This record gives sequence, structure tokens and C-alpha cells, in this order.
Amino acid sequence: MTTTALPSTDALRRRALDVLARLDAVPAEGHGVRARTPVTGENLLDLAATTPDAADEAVAAAHAAFRSWRAVPAPRRGELVRRLGDLLREHKADLADLVTIEAGKIRSEALGEVQEMIDICDFAVGLSRQLYGRTIASERPGHRLTETWHPLGVVGVISAFNFPAAVWAWNTAVALVCGDTVVWKPSELTPLTALACDRLLARAADETGAPREVHRLLLGDRALGELLADDPRVALVSATGSVRMGRQVGPRVAARFGRALLELGGNNAAVVAPSADLDLAASAIVFAAAGTAGQRCTTLRRLIAHEDVAGALLDRLTSAYGRLPIGDPFADATLVGPLISGQAHEAMRRALDTARAEGGKLLAGGGRRLADAAPAAFYAEPALVRVEGQNGIVREETFAPILYVQTYRTLDEAIELNNAVPQGLSSSVFTRDVGEAELFTSATGSDCGIVNVNIGTSGAEIGGAFGGEKETGGGRESGSDAWRAYMRRSTATVNYSDRLTLAQNVSFL
Ligand code: NAD
Repeated sequence: MTTTALPSTDALRRRALDVLARLDAVPAEGHGVRARTPVTGENLLDLAATTPDAADEAVAAAHAAFRSWRAVPAPRRGELVRRLGDLLREHKADLADLVTIEAGKIRSEALGEVQEMIDICDFAVGLSRQLYGRTIASERPGHRLTETWHPLGVVGVISAFNFPAAVWAWNTAVALVCGDTVVWKPSELTPLTALACDRLLARAADETGAPREVHRLLLGDRALGELLADDPRVALVSATGSVRMGRQVGPRVAARFGRALLELGGNNAAVVAPSADLDLAASAIVFAAAGTAGQRCTTLRRLIAHEDVAGALLDRLTSAYGRLPIGDPFADATLVGPLISGQAHEAMRRALDTARAEGGKLLAGGGRRLADAAPAAFYAEPALVRVEGQNGIVREETFAPILYVQTYRTLDEAIELNNAVPQGLSSSVFTRDVGEAELFTSATGSDCGIVNVNIGTSGAEIGGAFGGEKETGGGRESGSDAWRAYMRRSTATVNYSDRLTLAQNVSFL
């Protein structure tokens, strides 16, 4: 594995401030939220956290704005999102800079994240003319039965550090065309990216005549997320993060009969069958397992290889892992940037120790890089670990680049292993056998929300609904008909005859 040198914290701070100045989003200094970069592990700026009173006022403002926004025709609401998409195109490189500085993503992945935002804006603009309901055959003469989708209310968006901008856009672009207003509580680890997004949307609102209060930003820690979870004015809480967070947010929202959309952790597997193209599989596996330094919810964490091809596949993987360039995420050659924090590195180290204690064997990686150059930053070599059986640590999501490798004999056994973890987000099979591919994607195949053939587990397109089952939380967002979670369904029956006919032939009076 090669290592690329790091930029200085001063250079990163200047770069972040230049971007914020271009976006007219330079924050006032304050207390409570610390902008930090995992690239050097050092602090950039201290910002003011949103107070509980200001958060309450933000929800009240978004709630009041909803009353007028819901009455704006949906295609006109789409104009706001169209303008946001234009501004994102214009500032794609700027926003990607902030994503790299705060989340440590390599350049092409940071640009990809902003592209995803642009894509969802395009999708939502089209959607603004397609919020279709349906007409249902009524059993009564002279009656019309219809189903219409209406705006829902305030959407509270709670987001994670690893997609500091795209998850907001998935939720916000769709919510806005659906006639909802949004209050966003981003990760406390990525406040500058959030300020930039908020500013671009405020500009789009000003330029299209939409009320600014369609979107409000809360900067701070989980306590602000808890306020959103508990507030009855927040109709939908869309929360992206760990299973631990979902376990806390889900019941709180349910206790007040609010609606929750949960996008939680994954523990994603890929099955490599004997007929697989091993070169293609190896490339896909390395991107899915080591890309984003293993910090995607869809990161590949378990490899289930047929025993006939496991050796040849592992030769390819250990060789690729040995050549991964690790270091400055701004450098073109780098493929693996930093972990978000020392805690993340400690979790990785502990997971590797546990795996060894449980009989696992380290095949590649696992070390730390650049500790001398940047003692506060945590660059980890992606690790490959051979395990026997799927117990203990293999069943957990460690948010770091560790790929556990096991073998199988029959596809039924592989599917069983794929499904035998508490999470259910993403899965893949590599095969050239159409029967195997069909079985894996069928009702008796993978139990995940995302099921891929001959591609890795990460890197979904925005056109499909995104999310997963079991402890992943069951939510779906982004494309397809995920918009329905952001609207309320109204079933209307109209009697246009001059007779009262009761359903089910009931007679009365
Ligand atoms: P995290 O759970 O620590 O934090 C996520 C967000 O939730 C933050 O904004 C945080 O402040 C807030 N939060 C935490 N506890 C809360 C509580 N009790 N009440 C209200 N808000 C609370 O997650 P993270 O470390 O930022 O992100 C990594 C995790 O997110 C991983 O588990 C990853 O798989 C998951 N993730 C899932 C998806 C998905 O779409 N399924 C996408 C990205 C990340």
C-alpha cells in the first residue's frame, strides 16, 4: 500500500473559508459546535450551536410556512428544486471540497456525492408533475372513489456524517415538491457542509419567490435530534445513522404516533459463485469494501466465496489491497482517505482483535498510516480477515474498512449466510449463471432492500428506492415511489347521484 502526503490544517481551513465565502455562508464564530477535519484530525472553526429555544422557533417557522407552501401547486414547488439543482451544478466543486474536508472522502467520491444531489433534484422536479393518485371502482352507483396524495407537514431530517450532503438532498428535494417544509439536524461532525447546503437552498428560495422558512437548519448534537423526535409539529422524522440511534428515535416518534423513516446500519455481503468473472468481482469488491474507507452504510463487510474460487479470488484481493494508495483525499492518486475519528479507528482495532480472538486470520492490512505526519488523524489500511463461521464480531457493523471472508459449498448455504445477520441493507451475487442470479434476487433469495448482480453492494443510483430491512429500519427514500412517505393519503368518496346508497348493502332508515 502506498501513502500520499497530507495538506496542512491551515491550508484546509483557508480552502473551507474560501468556499463558504463564495457561497456567502461564512458562519459567525461561537460555541457548541466544532468544525473539524479528519484529513489532519485538527479543528477548523468553532461555531455557535442552535439553542433549544432557537430550535423550537425553527420548527414553529417551518410549521407556519407549511400552511402556505402546501397550497402552492406542486409544479411550482418544483421550480424551487430546479433552481437548487442549478446552484448545485454551479457549486459542485465547492461543495465537494467541504465534503472532503469534513468527511474525508476522496475527490471523485465527494464529487459523486454532489452529483447525487443534482440527480435527485432532477428527479424531484419531474416528480412535481407526477404525484399521482388513483381512481378506484366504487361498488355504489353514482359514486366516485379516489385516492389523492396531500402534503404531510414538517419533515425533520436527521443525517449522518458519512453522506453529509446527499442524504439531506434525497430528503429535502422530495419533501419540498411534496409540499412539506424541512428542519434539518445534520451530523455534528459536518456543520460546514450543512451551512453551505442551507445557504444554497435559501438562495434558490429567494430567487424563485419561495418562503425561506421552507427550510431551517439546526446545528448541534443529538439533543436537537431528540427535540425533533419528540415534537408533535414534526409530522415525519427521517433519520439516517446507526442502529443505536434508530433504536432511540423510532420509539420516541412512535410514542406520539408520528411517522418515522429510518435508514440505519448495514452488514452487507457479496456471494461469489464458481462461474463469476473473478477480475470483475475483485474490482467491485475492492471498491465496495475499501472505498470511502469502509464508511458507507452499503460498504461490503462480508465476502462469501465458493470454495472452488476462494483461493483465486483472495490472491486478486490481497494483491489489490497491497497496492491501495492511502492518504490525502484531495490527491488524485489516493483511493482511501481517513477514518472520521480516533473512536472509529479504535472500533476498527477492537474489531480486529476480537476477530483474531474468535479464530479469524488477518490476510491483509489492518495497520495505521501517517501517524507521525498527523498524530490526530486516523488513516487505516483496509483489512481482509479470513473467518470460519459467522458468529460474534462478523454479525456487527464496524464502521471501518474490514472485510470478513468465508467460504460456501451450495448457493442455498450462501443465501442462508447472507441473510443470517440482524441487518438487511445491501447484498450482491457475482455469477454468470442466470438461475443463480434469479434465485438470489427472488423471494427466497437475499432478504435485503438492495440486491445486486455482478456489481458491488455500494453505489446505488437515485432512481431506485433506497433502504433496507430488519435492523436497517425498513425505510425507503430517494427514487421510485419513496415520495409517498412524505405525503398523506386521502381516500375520497363522492356521491354524485340523488340517492343515498350504503356500502355492503347495509339498509338503515
Ligand atoms: P450516528 O447514529 O452516530 O448519528 C447520526 C445522526 O443521528 C447524527 O446527526 C446524530 O447527532 C443523531 N443522533 C444520534 N443519536 C440520536 C438520538 N438519540 N436522537 C436523535 N438524534 C440522534 O451515526 P454516524 O456515526 O453519523 O453515521 C454512521 C452510521 O450511519 C452507520 O451505522 C451507517 O451505516 C449509518 N448510515 C445509514 C445510511 C442508510 O441510508 N441506511 C446512510 C448513511 C449512514
